[in-house]
Amino acid sequence: MTAQIIDGKAMASGLRAAVAAETRRLVSGHGLTPGLAVVLVGENPASKAYVGSKSRAVIEVGMRPFDFHLPAATSANELLGLIGELNRDAAVHGILVQLPLPSQIDAARIIAAVDPAKDVDGFHPLNAGRLASGLPALAPCTPLGCIKLAKAVHASLSGLDAVVIGRSNIVGKPLAQLLLAENATVTIAHSRTRDLAGVCERADVLFAAVGRPEFVRGGWVKPGATVIDVGINRLAADGGKSRIVGDVCFAEACEIAGAITPVPGGVGPMTIACLLANTLKAACMQAALPVPEI
Ligand code: NAP
Repeated sequence: MTAQIIDGKAMASGLRAAVAAETRRLVSGHGLTPGLAVVLVGENPASKAYVGSKSRAVIEVGMRPFDFHLPAATSANELLGLIGELNRDAAVHGILVQLPLPSQIDAARIIAAVDPAKDVDGFHPLNAGRLASGLPALAPCTPLGCIKLAKAVHASLSGLDAVVIGRSNIVGKPLAQLLLAENATVTIAHSRTRDLAGVCERADVLFAAVGRPEFVRGGWVKPGATVIDVGINRLAADGGKSRIVGDVCFAEACEIAGAITPVPGGVGPMTIACLLANTLKAACMQAALPVPEI
């Protein structure tokens, strides 16, 4: 069997177009331009690239970007000062602090300082708690994208066996909560899981968020299952270049799975599109307007 490739790039483009249409409606109907503040501290090259693509995407959908690039030596108090200002600024509807932060800054303290209503990353403990309690919340962007990709194959995830490998606060745990909300039967696997291959073989939908290149082998995949590969791993390639691979051995899994996301071109583009959707949602909620279904 050769798996259907789930085209995350095309889906993300459709979602961005829908966000742009709703943004135009907000601007013309209510004089409201959603604003997203992106805060980068330091010179991490991957973070700089992510922040650059986020800012471009914000402008493309007609939102207002507020970009801040602070020096690597910035203190926690200086960063907290900026976040306080952004929390108070009515033109800013979403705040994203790019992680990782330099070692002198405690990321948990910074995340907790963001106004939960502007927490478009969905990392604030209040939003994490609301999500876990089944209450309306701003949910993290990568898990939101994973759910949309899985639903491109399965109109409903209800009753399906879903296995999530990884239990981080930014991917694995919130993804498991979103899957529960979709009525999937959820297993969260991690580095202490016994017989990981056997656990994965039970999955109708398998999500890999491990951070290890090509870790999930084709033989772990149930025939016909859907595989959503969250991993972004940079490997050295010929000529001093690099290539990006996922957490799933794509060539092997393609032969067994029913559908699979590629890396790149799967979860990655959906993450940024979901960030824009979260910013739209945050702007609508702050203005007490209905949140569009997109
Ligand atoms: P993370 O915080 O490092 O978490 C990795 C998880 O994998 C942990 O829960 C860990 O288990 C588990 N794990 C590690 N080795 C394992 C093993 N041998 N067997 C089973 N589980 C194992 O990583 P993350 O932030 O969640 O990111 C995961 C991947 O997604 C990375 O490749 C990252 O680059 C990628 N990512 C992509 C996007 C995107 O937009 N596409 C966004 C975010 C992250 P323990 O908890 O037991 O240590």
